[in-house]
Amino acid sequence: MKRFSVKTKITMWITVLTIVLAVLLSVFMLSVSNTVFLETVKSRLSQTMINSIGRLSINDGRLNIEAGFNFYDNGISILIYNKNEALLAGQIPVAFTIEEPFENGMTRIVNADANEYLIMDIWLPDGWDNGVWVRGLTESPDYVQTSGNLRFMLFTALPGFIFLAAIGAYLIIRKAFKPLNKITSAASAINEARDLSGRIGLPEGGDEFSRLAASFDSMFERLERSFEAEKRFTDDASHELRTPVAIIKGACEYAEKYDETPEERKETISMIHRQAVKMSDLIYQLLSMARLDQGTERAHFEQVDLGELSVLVCGEQNYDQARLSVRSEENVLVKADSSLISRLIQNLLDNAFKYGGKDCCVDVSVKKVGEECQVSVKDDGIGISYDEQEKIWQRFYQVDASRGDGSGSGLGLAIVRQIAELHSGYMTLESIPGIGSDFILHLPAEKI
Ligand code: ADP
Repeated sequence: MKRFSVKTKITMWITVLTIVLAVLLSVFMLSVSNTVFLETVKSRLSQTMINSIGRLSINDGRLNIEAGFNFYDNGISILIYNKNEALLAGQIPVAFTIEEPFENGMTRIVNADANEYLIMDIWLPDGWDNGVWVRGLTESPDYVQTSGNLRFMLFTALPGFIFLAAIGAYLIIRKAFKPLNKITSAASAINEARDLSGRIGLPEGGDEFSRLAASFDSMFERLERSFEAEKRFTDDASHELRTPVAIIKGACEYAEKYDETPEERKETISMIHRQAVKMSDLIYQLLSMARLDQGTERAHFEQVDLGELSVLVCGEQNYDQARLSVRSEENVLVKADSSLISRLIQNLLDNAFKYGGKDCCVDVSVKKVGEECQVSVKDDGIGISYDEQEKIWQRFYQVDASRGDGSGSGLGLAIVRQIAELHSGYMTLESIPGIGSDFILHLPAEKI
């Protein structure tokens, strides 16, 4: 059975079942119809015998047969014998060649030559020791002939029916399995081409195959996202870490080669430390992005009060609290992952203080506007020129690395945007160079 396809196996199973069922049904019908035929002939025989006996009488040793007595009635031969079993009246069928002893009242089947006969004998008495035998004789039903329709059904209609059932079953199964073939070929095409952007793309439907295809497609999508994120992480990490590693390597080689003064050595060490911190920040940011990209950093959505969360995040800051103010309306509720939103606010605060200058003030305000909740992080810092305002959301984009404290990597705002989009929200920016910037997070409000 191993070498047969599932389609063939199911078709064979259905065909075998149909054959078994048909044979059982036919045998049952044949046996029922045989019994019915035999019983019908028996009752016809006994009825004819009763009628015939009623038209015979014996008076003073003389047998009286009514006028118009039928010796051959309804396929039944009526024979009258004397007590010595000599035929008095009636015509024995030519094929009935045997001498069958008489048995009063018994209906039985006897074989004569190739034929079967049904016989019924009745003793018609005349006094103590006289009388006549009346015998009813008919050919027993020819089952095969009488069940002609059944025969036709068994040998012609039934094989045709089984053939049709098998073909029908095969066609239906083949049609039902078509999506599976599509799934298999799509999956192997994706595998062979190693191109994860392929999809099975079965039309949506309630059946098992559509659901299987949809699951495969979403699995391919996750795999694709995961591979892309991994590739991007590897590319970014190797590209971005190259500079700090080169600086550290250069500084170490220089320190090894030349006799440095204690001051120079201190400067080298603090440079190495700065680059190490930068590398560690960069790795942390890259990993965050990769996890968000891959979806491995699963968001735990729950009802969050954006006002309470913002107050909490601002309260935990090491920045001069006098320069940081936070205002919020009550019940600004959203469905969100509080740790991701905290990271988003943290990034905006870091930027605000980084690019705001020494004396800048940062104002965080939380409010509900229509169907939206907004968190605004506003500073009165250096601002961003109009040309740059679109670009700053790109990965690794920095307006001018020298503008901040040199710790930037260009990933902070990309992460901010990624987190906002993960929450079905978006970011806007209002910024005027020299006046300040206002970064606003927009999230759909939770219905109360
Ligand atoms: P970085 O690590 O360089 O800060 P970000 O993605 O956070 O990267 O920011 C991208 C660029 O946008 C920064 O290089 C900076 O020039 C600019 N920027 C971000 N926030 C502000 C801000 N509040 N004020 C002025 N410029 C900003």
